Amino acid sequence: MTTQSLPAPSGCRWCGLEEREHFQRWKSPVGWHVWTEPTSDQRKERMRERRAASASVETPKETPLTADEWNTAWPVGTPILAWPGSRDAEPLTTATRTTAWTLGSGHAVVSVEGCTGGIFLTHIQPIHQNGDPR
Ligand SMILES: [Zn+2]
Repeated sequence: MTTQSLPAPSGCRWCGLEEREHFQRWKSPVGWHVWTEPTSDQRKERMRERRAASASVETPKETPLTADEWNTAWPVGTPILAWPGSRDAEPLTTATRTTAWTLGSGHAVVSVEGCTGGIFLTHIQPIHQNGDPR
């Protein structure tokens, strides 16, 4: 399930489409209608649904973001999922091959098997081998 299938928080009260994509729509039982501002309860509910949907994807929860925290928590050779490019791409299943370090820019990175250079810790997720990561 992706957030794309859910109505935007500001989507139409009747059909969930955003104003800019909304011309006239037929939606039972409302019939033909123009974009109507959603109620604030509706916005809240939609935001809650979108949060729930994105949480069920692979948002790293407690991944340490500094190199030191990472090195304390995860030894070299930790099995991980890595997103060398975009977080939207398919992850690489691999393992760390160095300890993490901090770049001059302040970003913490680590090297992984199969990739040269460092990958941002924000693009790394340890694989929990004993089932549920939470
Ligand atoms: Zn509508």
